Amino acid sequence: MTCSYCGKEMLETTTTHVEEMGGNTILVIKGVPCYKCKECSEIHYTMDVLMKLEALVNKFKETLSTDMIVEYSVA
Ligand SMILES: [Zn+2]
Repeated sequence: MTCSYCGKEMLETTTTHVEEMGGNTILVIKGVPCYKCKECSEIHYTMDVLMKLEALVNKFKETLSTDMIVEYSVA
């Protein structure tokens, strides 16, 4: 996989994804699998990961009243 910005090689790693939920609350998802560019640090998620992130955001959207940190692997 290559970076869509600079065309350099991307490496498989994990990152912490922060989603703004509105009302000044954020959902922090730790240990999210991703590809990261060696050159410009651009992050790319695969479609599977994007779908799971979206499902997580939807799951917490209704109930979240304070900032929350979840682990991707156990969520
Ligand atoms: Zn790049």
